Amino acid sequence: MPDTSLPRVHRVEGSLFPVNAYIVETRDAVVIVDAMLGVTDGRALRARADALGKPIAAVVVTHAHPDHYGGVTPLLDGLDVPILAVAGVDAAVRRDDASKEEILRPMFGAEWPQRRTFPNRTVADGDVIQLGGATFRVVDLGPGESPHDSLWLLEADGRTVAAFAGDLAYGHMHGYLADGFYEGWLRNIARARGLLGADATLYIGHGEPGPAGPLLDWQERYIDTFIDAVTSIASGATPGTANDAAATERVTQAMQQYLPGDDLLFLMQLSVPPMRQLLARETRERPQP
Ligand SMILES: [Zn+2]
Repeated sequence: MPDTSLPRVHRVEGSLFPVNAYIVETRDAVVIVDAMLGVTDGRALRARADALGKPIAAVVVTHAHPDHYGGVTPLLDGLDVPILAVAGVDAAVRRDDASKEEILRPMFGAEWPQRRTFPNRTVADGDVIQLGGATFRVVDLGPGESPHDSLWLLEADGRTVAAFAGDLAYGHMHGYLADGFYEGWLRNIARARGLLGADATLYIGHGEPGPAGPLLDWQERYIDTFIDAVTSIASGATPGTANDAAATERVTQAMQQYLPGDDLLFLMQLSVPPMRQLLARETRERPQP
């Protein structure tokens, strides 16, 4: 009789700030999806995996941001394991790691690993891969929340039972838009909607996993709200926002009307100055009616 038991998904939350890694447990092994940022969290993830008593068959890196790959070094700590990513994620991680070092070392000190570990196996859109007895289908999304994003669908019995989405949607937390690919992000959300049933569980990088439909709808409105707020400042339509601090304050007010609270607020606030510049440029370059 075939083994029809579904893989079990364990969520592991970071201690430095709210970020998730996932352990996909099959009968014989575990697969790790993302590894958080720091040394403490990477080691804790390893301890959780070891406690299941099964070998780590592979690590998956969903997207190019350091709060999802920094912890790979302490997670593996010398283990020789395939670390998979789509080629665009691999390239962006390698390209941007030195600039992330400059930003993150002062913020996190020794928690940001001295030596980072990069993917060692690249995969492509549409690939179906067996990892530790689990079947994953790879969706290469391209630029979105980060310079390169991907979606990993967990399949069983010929259907998608879960989707590992990186930061395609945040679980009702503020988000990072500073990379400037908001149009790609909105396209990625639309693409994910077409691939997933509204009630497929979306395992996301920050906050509570949940049904894909409501999470994607909520994220789309968050992005639209942010772009509207920054555009109105960039076009000069919002008075009293001449400098970055004042602009950031006004955008924060708008975003906290949409999402009260401070969870990851600093990520959204970091995004205001670069997006203000980008949207001012787009406004200037757009043909006037
Ligand atoms: Zn993240």
